[in-house]
Amino acid sequence: MRAIKNAIVLGAGGFIGSHLVKRLKDEGYFVRGVDIKHPEFSRSAADEFIIGDLRDIQVVKDVISNDCDELYQLAGEVGGAGYLFTGEHDAEVMHNSAQINLNVAQIALEKNVRSLFYSSSACIYPEENQLNPNSPNCEENSAYPANPDSEYGWEKLFSERLYLSYKRNHGLNVKIARFHNIFGPESTWTGGREKAPAAICRKVAEAKENETVKIWGDGLQTRSFLYIDDCIDAVLKLTRSNFSGPYNIGSEEMISMYDFTQLILKISKKNNHIETIEGPQGVRGRCSHNALVSKDIQWIPKYNLETGVTKLYEWIEKQVNN
Ligand code: NAD
Repeated sequence: MRAIKNAIVLGAGGFIGSHLVKRLKDEGYFVRGVDIKHPEFSRSAADEFIIGDLRDIQVVKDVISNDCDELYQLAGEVGGAGYLFTGEHDAEVMHNSAQINLNVAQIALEKNVRSLFYSSSACIYPEENQLNPNSPNCEENSAYPANPDSEYGWEKLFSERLYLSYKRNHGLNVKIARFHNIFGPESTWTGGREKAPAAICRKVAEAKENETVKIWGDGLQTRSFLYIDDCIDAVLKLTRSNFSGPYNIGSEEMISMYDFTQLILKISKKNNHIETIEGPQGVRGRCSHNALVSKDIQWIPKYNLETGVTKLYEWIEKQVNN
């Protein structure tokens, strides 16, 4: 038996991947990170960082070694509402992410990877279950009959099924999580692919005294947001458990986008007015439902929303003032 375990993180140049690499290193793993780019905000903690395009199966063959204990598949086309819900990027989201997952499932099998984690999304849940902002239904077993509201959600659902069929037919040891809005420092905060928490923190940090803070939609749409450290705890617990999922990994602290913006204003000690404007906004309501994940792997989030958002706001304020 080897003393040091090996982990490979695909998408290690991204937000969740770079935090995951740090944690695996803290735990004493030998970590290989793979991405088409280096992390944007700090140097990767990985022992090896390979730049490669995972749409190319030869690259996937080269980077997944035979001695891999834990493989984390986080690479794919990602964005917030401004990227995913306008329809302009549908073909690249469907093609690129599916191509990566097709390659990874096959090569993970060929290389006898011991455990493969796949990051799906809350975007797989049917739109009609999320029409009422006060009582969305995101229980794991409500995913079918399927009707995600974006192509991003359809690709995630396809890839969940792809990995589950490799488990069923070939015994691949897969673990699947449906992330619900993960946030924290060192996440994309500008440029068009940022998600709501970072985008609103940036707008508040940039707002001058008499300016309004503009948010998309009527502000009554609801979401829940999970702090990155809680997300990493859950990913590791699930990967090392005897369960496969899919499981929700999210927070159950639901909040309207208007109230969320007010919370950020409070944290920033500013009192600008909030203006609601037209813009892509996704489903009306969404909140994680954690009964199953807490029962099976005994995971519950540790951070409350305000504590986590304070850390994000402080980091974004620094970026804005840099
Ligand atoms: P991210 O965009 O920061 O990370 C994704 C990484 O994948 C990027 O660094 C990107 O360069 C890389 N990538 C894309 N195409 C690639 C390719 N062809 N070859 C190699 N690398 C490639 O996003 P994230 O927030 O860290 O998300 C990680 C995973 O979790 C994604 O699969 C995402 O869909 C999923 N997810 C995230 C959230 C969230 O709230 N952050 C919610 C649901 C699901």
